[in-house]
Amino acid sequence: MTRKNRNALLWLLILFCLVFAGLAGLFAKRTEAFALEEAQEQALNLLLTQRAVHAYVANVQRPEIYRLQREGRLPEDYFSPALMSRTFVARNVMDWLNAERVARGLPPIYIKLASDNPRNPVNQADEWESGVLRQFNAGHRDEIRQVVERAGERWLFMAIPVQSNSAGCLKCHGNPGDAPGDLLNRYGDKAGFNEEIGRTRAFISLRIPLSAIIQEGRGQALGTLMVTFLSLAAVYLLIALFIRRLDEKHAIILRQNEELGRLSVTDPLTGLLNRAGFLGQLEGRVREAERYQVPLVLVMLDIDHFKSINDRYGHAVGDDVLRHVADILSRNLRRADLCCRWGGEEFLILLPMQDAAGGRASAEKLRLAVEQGAYPEKGRMTASFGVAVHRRSEETSEWIGRADRALYEAKASGRNRVVLAEDV
Ligand code: GH3
Ligand code: MG
Ligand code: MG
Repeated sequence: MTRKNRNALLWLLILFCLVFAGLAGLFAKRTEAFALEEAQEQALNLLLTQRAVHAYVANVQRPEIYRLQREGRLPEDYFSPALMSRTFVARNVMDWLNAERVARGLPPIYIKLASDNPRNPVNQADEWESGVLRQFNAGHRDEIRQVVERAGERWLFMAIPVQSNSAGCLKCHGNPGDAPGDLLNRYGDKAGFNEEIGRTRAFISLRIPLSAIIQEGRGQALGTLMVTFLSLAAVYLLIALFIRRLDEKHAIILRQNEELGRLSVTDPLTGLLNRAGFLGQLEGRVREAERYQVPLVLVMLDIDHFKSINDRYGHAVGDDVLRHVADILSRNLRRADLCCRWGGEEFLILLPMQDAAGGRASAEKLRLAVEQGAYPEKGRMTASFGVAVHRRSEETSEWIGRADRALYEAKASGRNRVVLAEDV
């Protein structure tokens, strides 16, 4: 994998880790909020149910009792808390609800009624509760929600006022003289009287433990986090695999491009540079030599009477001879020299750091090597050489032209020889 892609994957990994950490933090925070919202929802439902029971007693059951009394079917003094007391009925409904909950293995719910003028002393509000009632009556608030710490547990405390006193309520809570005899017999004439219409005489509250709900929320958050982690990991792995495959394909294309590039400047028969490859490097070499003020020599050579090889032995043998000459040239040149197949049976060689004398000597050495080479089927081969030293600021084509003319001269003057362009 390339360094660039490795770095990209590393950054992606860091990004994914940051996203995951961010999500984990967010979930942890939301878990608490979720638990509270859940508990509040539960609490509100229960409190509203309680208030509905209160309303049912006040608005349905009591008028029914009064109707029966008016019709003389129940005595005037009849009173039963089981039918007529809102708090009594609501408390009993709660007991029935808790019995059902316990039967199903659920924890019971504790609801408290607090009144500053209770008939039953168990409902007597303490100092703080009396303050809450005053606030409800002053209209400052219509609901209380608080999270309180008690006995190592966090609780949601929630309270709402019961329905305010209506005219019907005053029958039992107004003047003791108006109260039914049964009620006075049961509770006496002291507690729970002298109420006013519109006043709120009690509120209902409950506490819900939060730890179980928080625990449940954490479980859910953990599950969601696990799924998130696995999804992120899967996406990361897919991206990594995808990048790896891209990398492999890219590497293949690079290799192919390299090979194509090499082939585009190589002569397929001899493996030497071709004309384009040679010219591609020549300009740079000339500029370099001019900058360092060192001489440069071009040697152009052409195999003598090559056509007759083809004619006599066939094209394949001709090809073999070309490969042999190329091989001889390569072996007799230095690494810094540049040699190409200029075309047909012509070769062009660049000799850096060589002046006329050096160029001529090198060409002479090559001529001898070609002449002494052992060729398949064909006993002796010779070549003619044209040598041209580069002139300052001379165009490349002009320079090659001079080497070519020197070569022509070598041919014209009997072949198998070296001619220096200056001599022409
Ligand atoms: P000279 O001494 O004047 O150079 O004579 P020559 O026969 O070498 O020159 P000429 O230009 O008449 O012939 C060159 C021949 O080279 C003609 C062509 O068929 C042959 N030739 C060119 N390219 C190739 C090649 O790739 N393979 C083979 N086998 N022959 C080639
Ligand atoms: Mg020739
Ligand atoms: Mg030729």
